[in-house]
Amino acid sequence: MSSAASAGARHGDVDVAVVGAGAAGLYAALCAANEGATVALLSAMPLAQTASYWAQGGLAAVLATDDSFELHLSDTERAGRGAVRGSAAEVLVSEAPERVRDLERLGFHFDADRHGRLALGLEGGHSVRRIVHAGGSATGRRLLRELSALVAGHPRVRVVEGARVSRLLCDGERCIGVVCQAGEDPDDRHALGRIVTARATVLSTGGAAALWARTTNPPGSIGQGLLLAHSAGATLADLEFVQFHPTAVIGLEGREGFLITEAIRGEGATLLDRDGQRFVDELAPRDEVSRAIQSRLRESGERSVSLDMRAIDPALFPNVVGALREAGLDPMRELVPVAPAAHYTIGGIVTDLHARSAVAGLYAVGETACTGLHGANRLASNSLSECFVFGRRAALAALQEPALGDGAAEVSQAAIDAGASTPEVGASVDWRSEKSSNDQQDIRLALWRHAGIERSAAGLTELLDNQHPMARLIARSALMREESRGTHTRSDYLECDMRLDGKHVVVPGGDDLGLDWQDWR
Ligand SMILES: Cc1cc2nc3c(=O)[nH]c(=O)nc-3n(C[C@H](O)[C@H](O)[C@H](O)COP(=O)(O)OP(=O)(O)OC[C@H]3O[C@@H](n4cnc5c(N)ncnc54)[C@H](O)[C@@H]3O)c2cc1C
Repeated sequence: MSSAASAGARHGDVDVAVVGAGAAGLYAALCAANEGATVALLSAMPLAQTASYWAQGGLAAVLATDDSFELHLSDTERAGRGAVRGSAAEVLVSEAPERVRDLERLGFHFDADRHGRLALGLEGGHSVRRIVHAGGSATGRRLLRELSALVAGHPRVRVVEGARVSRLLCDGERCIGVVCQAGEDPDDRHALGRIVTARATVLSTGGAAALWARTTNPPGSIGQGLLLAHSAGATLADLEFVQFHPTAVIGLEGREGFLITEAIRGEGATLLDRDGQRFVDELAPRDEVSRAIQSRLRESGERSVSLDMRAIDPALFPNVVGALREAGLDPMRELVPVAPAAHYTIGGIVTDLHARSAVAGLYAVGETACTGLHGANRLASNSLSECFVFGRRAALAALQEPALGDGAAEVSQAAIDAGASTPEVGASVDWRSEKSSNDQQDIRLALWRHAGIERSAAGLTELLDNQHPMARLIARSALMREESRGTHTRSDYLECDMRLDGKHVVVPGGDDLGLDWQDWR
């Protein structure tokens, strides 16, 4: 290998490569850099196209005097329906308050009440008020703006928007970095070179809910991190658990899928059927509310139920009220048409309590990870807290990784030699190309039909032939779980099978598609 080529290959040499610039990636990058590491933060899409940016409700954390870790833990476990990994949930509830304080120390302002204390919201499944938020329901947008400014101004972080990671580099023993292709931002193409080597690689690529026809997620949430990790040998799990948010706007031009935070129901908004009757406890966990809506829609044959938020103070939720008004509906005077939409992928890359995957040197945090803390149904607002709690844990653990050996240069050189022919993972459909939009729509409709709020063996079996690898993995996992639990409702197995308490469907890494059960209690 020539030294010039080697220098090119090592152009992107850093301590930590972070893939994805949502809440989890930004915070992991910031924590690692604050500990002295050099960091490359790579993001395929512009910042506004992350689920984090769109988050409305906030972060769940024990901060009120009438709250306790035990209460937050038991709410999380109750929502998770016998599938929560207790150790991961304990980490979340015990560290979330400190991460909220960290954010305040970084200069972030959460909304306060008139006495200057943090204003805490109430959401479904929480037994007390424990959601911190900012700008009413603009929490994600504000958090991302502030965090990205801090990261961009950090002398040890190099931020590259428009860099899509298409492959993980492994030297046979561990992950040693990533291969990038140009992403969505033409100004930043190839800004960091195609190869980034790092002693730790953190995947924070978000979820996959945009693979469903009706979704609250931005278009980039298509599970790329899961496929990258899986092809590098990491284990995936819980892919059958996908949370459907009960109240996404439907039939309003320009706002299809726009999420109406359940904090609005926490303040008293009600759900009404076509006869104007309430039919569900609006603050029950999301799986219950989504199923209740679905069943009303089946009975009535209509596309939506109504959210009545006319009695809500519009000043509490300015961006929701503003967005609806912009689209021509005044929620202070009219009912809002809503229906469930795919919202959050609970499954992901299996990690331990320090965000380590099954592949040495490879970490996963945020929605792309599966710590088991959400069980079969995520408790509202636990996911942003997870981004910060496990983002920090990943950063600290990553710094313990040994330096790269000489083999790293050879592996990265081989990747450079492979050049532009490097295949993009899961590339049967190019999600950036207009040409494939019919294929994309077919995949989304197939997942909506066959792996939606209710599934059955017949539909799931059809998905096994789907062209998208994530659709096939989801179908295999959902077929394996012959019961109904949390977000996974099988119309052919309506009962919860207690023998499966604590058990998780696991997809081993690599090409082997043999699924397995693991007990994570
Ligand atoms: C509308 C909405 C409202 C929500 N509200 C709340 C809430 O109030 N509270 C809460 O706790 N949770 C909420 N959630 C869920 C929560 O926002 C997400 O789970 C969380 O923000 C995920 O953060 P993340 O950092 O893991 O991923 P994301 O924020 O989705 O970021 C993923 C990043 O990965 C990048 N990426 C993906 N693939 C690649 C690749 N191959 N190469 C390079 N980069 C890549 C993307 O460009 C992006 O930068 C909400 C979600 C939505 C959609």
